[in-house]
Amino acid sequence: MLVQVRKGDSLWYYSQLFSVPLEMIEDANKEGKCEHLPVGSTVKIPAYRKVTVDFQPGDTLWTIAASRKLHVDSLYLLNPHLQNVPQIEIGVPVQVPVRIESKLIYGKKKYCYETMMKDIKRLEEIYPFIKTEIIGHSVLGRAIPHIKIGNGQKHIHINGSFHANEWITTAIIMTFINDLLLSLTNKTSLRGLYMYPFYNEVTLSFVPMVNPDGVDLVLHGADASYKKQVVAINGGSEDFTGWKANIRGVDLNNQYPANWDIEKERKIPKAPAFRDYPGNAPLTEPEAIIMEELANREQFDMVLAFHTQGEELYWGYEGCEPTESEALAKEFELVSSYKAVRYVDSHAGYKDWFIQKYKKPGFTIELGKGVNPLPLSQFDEIYVKSLGIFLASMYI
Ligand SMILES: [Zn+2]
Repeated sequence: MLVQVRKGDSLWYYSQLFSVPLEMIEDANKEGKCEHLPVGSTVKIPAYRKVTVDFQPGDTLWTIAASRKLHVDSLYLLNPHLQNVPQIEIGVPVQVPVRIESKLIYGKKKYCYETMMKDIKRLEEIYPFIKTEIIGHSVLGRAIPHIKIGNGQKHIHINGSFHANEWITTAIIMTFINDLLLSLTNKTSLRGLYMYPFYNEVTLSFVPMVNPDGVDLVLHGADASYKKQVVAINGGSEDFTGWKANIRGVDLNNQYPANWDIEKERKIPKAPAFRDYPGNAPLTEPEAIIMEELANREQFDMVLAFHTQGEELYWGYEGCEPTESEALAKEFELVSSYKAVRYVDSHAGYKDWFIQKYKKPGFTIELGKGVNPLPLSQFDEIYVKSLGIFLASMYI
């Protein structure tokens, strides 16, 4: 919600007036921030939108404010032209601030790239303190967004949909982001845990959809422009429900330089395929490179890569994992009931590479069980379990 600065206003005053944490208002108005706000300039107030109501018989600005639990000055701020009017006429429109206290996005649906991009835009509008950027483009040119929330020292990265038919992970991550933002701005708890104090302790980084071309292929089928190639990669079939790879038939989670040669040797596909083909060399695919560059740039303290298959979480790689990984894995197991497994006979994955290169905790978390894509009927149960992991990554 945008407001126009009046004489004497400050961001601190707005945080009191609207009961929104000051640091979130500050972060939402980083550009041109100075000690004294210029009168007439525009300030973004997170977690609010404006609605217009018409003046009814018996209304005053005081009664409108009182009935909506608002300070009357918030109405003066939004309606400066009405401040000194002795009697406001019936039917005159009044701008009223409305606090956002429920979810803006709905995750329990076939969650494609376009849905995610629209939802991110919606979140950015209401919560302008989140930082979003495009970190690169997929093979088909889709912009891959990265979202950052918080100002803390501890830097946690979470990603989803490395594998195309595991797109439910994107919906789970986006739902968590929305719940987190509600909890931060309303100072409410998530499963008994107040998120607000974490805003200055943790910086959360999200890439909700690493493989947008693959996700949309699974959800919407192939566009005429590349249909021939993907059908050929898919063994002549137009059923893409088993597709895990990127659009060129490379498995993005087999692309990392952590014993890639071993993986290359033993993986069955020796050419582009709907799953498991590691490519001609490590890091040939733009989506995999983008994720490598992001980790190198951001220097994460921990990464969580969300996949779907088997209700397990993998936390080790060739003994490179730090000692704290075990305690983290145990806690994740406790809160999610997913089985913590140290080693799995696999190489060249994103978390393998991260652990090997940075010697920091990295996890592959396999949500749910059954045939991918997992049915949406599992969404609620998966969300309850993953929420435990999201929260544990912050409080441990
Ligand atoms: Zn996977």
